[in-house]
Amino acid sequence: MNFIQNTIDDYMKIDSTIITLVTIGLITLITILAYSLERYLVSHPSTYLKIFFHLLEGFGLALGMAILQKTFHIVNHGSINNGWLYANAQMTIMLYALYLMRNRITLMINLVMPFVYHEASNFQRLESYKFPYFVIAYLVLMGVTIYFYLNQDKLINNARKYILCQAIYGVSWWLLLWVDHNFEFYRILDMVLVFLIYMAIIRYCERKMQETLNGYDHLKVAVNYDELTGIRNRASFDKTVKDIYQTYNDNTNVPLTIAMLDIDRFKKFNDTFGHSTGDNVLRHVANTMERTLFLKNTQGQIFRFGGEEFIIIFRGKTTQECTPIIVDLKNSLTDSPLFLNGKQLDVNVSFGVTQLKDSDKSFKDLFERVDSYLYQSKNSGRNSMTVEGQTTKFDNK
Ligand code: GH3
Ligand code: MG
Ligand code: MG
Repeated sequence: MNFIQNTIDDYMKIDSTIITLVTIGLITLITILAYSLERYLVSHPSTYLKIFFHLLEGFGLALGMAILQKTFHIVNHGSINNGWLYANAQMTIMLYALYLMRNRITLMINLVMPFVYHEASNFQRLESYKFPYFVIAYLVLMGVTIYFYLNQDKLINNARKYILCQAIYGVSWWLLLWVDHNFEFYRILDMVLVFLIYMAIIRYCERKMQETLNGYDHLKVAVNYDELTGIRNRASFDKTVKDIYQTYNDNTNVPLTIAMLDIDRFKKFNDTFGHSTGDNVLRHVANTMERTLFLKNTQGQIFRFGGEEFIIIFRGKTTQECTPIIVDLKNSLTDSPLFLNGKQLDVNVSFGVTQLKDSDKSFKDLFERVDSYLYQSKNSGRNSMTVEGQTTKFDNK
């Protein structure tokens, strides 16, 4: 009965609530930090950056623990009463960081922590009868910590194993603390239980957060694709350009060609048949081009650049290799015409095509050239392509 009364008293204290809230708050910050850094690393892979980020994560963890200690001292007016609460919160944060972060610094912090606690570094204890317990508990803790570090993926997907590892981690820690603090045995059991509850809440929050972040990935798809035509949009083009320009500029023996196309006299569709017909023409052109690029296995990637202008990026292809593809694209448009109320709409397009050159100082140079070639096609009476300055009129068969 005493046990239950003590436990209830412990839980009802406002200090417990404060420590719990601070712990959850810190864990949220650690999660955001770790996820943001991981995400950045995925899109900007670099060994130095990785080392730096791991140091930052380790620092975040250490700072979190320091904040927690400070908070604990403040709510307890410097006393060590309710130390179990503080220890539990610390353990939660350490194990959580180990579970979340893939870095050796977190592992090290976990392994070194038992020696950092003031009492634990008191070597008089070496003579105590409890010393073997310390050694055993530490070895078990070390084992489970390293296991956690090496098997994060497995543990994330295996709830039973995860909880078992948590329990072992919790028991080893509480044994370590018992060596110094002489907690009553029931207290240790109670604390392991509280620790598991703590971790379960946090794991739940972490999962929710992960789901939310995955939701952002779907949002990203929406952000990168054009609503009207379903093909990649201008924002996606800008992002792609940043990635490819550097790659192909450094790799002078791998060609890169881009084509720009614009629908001829598009305004006329809007003016004659209305804006929604104009939209249909846009959809038709975009889908026909994309389908042909795919069916002919061209590896060309099409973007809606704006209005009725599109850009196609051909990685690893020269303009000579792209010219027949452009003709195929034009033919596919002629071969599958668009009908409005049974009447065929004549949709023609003009192209500019150019390859990245050594003399291009930036993507802008390449872009301005392709734009001027498209303009040249328009000036030559439209329905034509200009490849490296050479204009050819399309044959409408
Ligand atoms: P050119 O042969 O010189 O390219 O002539 P054009 O009429 O195709 O070119 P212009 O740039 O004069 O007209 C483009 C028009 O496209 C103007 C704009 O109102 C229309 N437009 C831009 N975006 C959309 C859209 O999403 N839907 C529709 N229906 N019209 C659009
Ligand atoms: Mg046009
Ligand atoms: Mg235009």
